[in-house]
Amino acid sequence: MFSKIWTKKYTESYSNNIKKLRKVLDEADAVVIGAGSGLSTSAGLTYGGERFEKYFSDFIEKYNIPDMYSGGFYPYETLEEYWAWWSRHIYYNRYIDVPKHVYEHLLNLVKNKDYFVITTNVDHCFQRSGFDKERMFYMQGDYGLWQCSEPCHQQTYDNEEQVKAMVKKQKDLKIPSDLVPYCPVCQKSMTMNLRCDNTFVQDEGWYKAKNRYENFINKHKNSKIVYLELGVGANTPVWIKYPFWKMTMNNPKATYVCINYGEATAPDEIKEQSICIDDDIGDVINKLQ
Ligand SMILES: [Zn+2]
Repeated sequence: MFSKIWTKKYTESYSNNIKKLRKVLDEADAVVIGAGSGLSTSAGLTYGGERFEKYFSDFIEKYNIPDMYSGGFYPYETLEEYWAWWSRHIYYNRYIDVPKHVYEHLLNLVKNKDYFVITTNVDHCFQRSGFDKERMFYMQGDYGLWQCSEPCHQQTYDNEEQVKAMVKKQKDLKIPSDLVPYCPVCQKSMTMNLRCDNTFVQDEGWYKAKNRYENFINKHKNSKIVYLELGVGANTPVWIKYPFWKMTMNNPKATYVCINYGEATAPDEIKEQSICIDDDIGDVINKLQ
């Protein structure tokens, strides 16, 4: 029963797909990258296993937290503990170097093209890896930004300096009380600028990025364009996956590409215009260099 999985990567259709993908990328006038968490996992930013145990052993021991994702939802009793968790989470996913060079290699593929990135990732890896920040739409927020928890005003704040101080000064799973961040306007607690509910702050930068993305999509709606979907899960398809399918359906010159470990599929309606590759994203990108 395992033979199918073992041989999948080496079948003829797999190498044909790589060839086809290289050709459509070479010939494309524009590329839209739609990226989900699978891309960062491939770049080594894993949320469980060894990496999680290395950085959070004390939290695992005290609270039995199963992985980094779950730890963000734990109801910590104090803000000092909450920020001990979050500062460490932000630091290791946003401010240290990305473990593998998957994003840089991806940039090599598109840097001479008219490209744009839309992503649900909040770890800022695109920008950290040299992508043009004018060509990106981070619609779900950024670990590097805070906002008022209310929110009493629509503004976000860089947190790098404070996060680094919190990581450095925390002890026994708590940060010193004087480092707990409060809103400069209403004095309520600050919180992460992440879309989890309707308190998510969309500041001026967010709207500008959204406009740039929509203009790009409009400009290229009839172009020879590649919608390159990388590691987008089935949980939040409304931002990237469904629009990519629809835009491909509406443009006979478009190609939809789905690279996803375990979930590489396309609907029948666009089958002839699709390339689906079930493999590690970093491995596929290396084969295209
Ligand atoms: Zn406020």
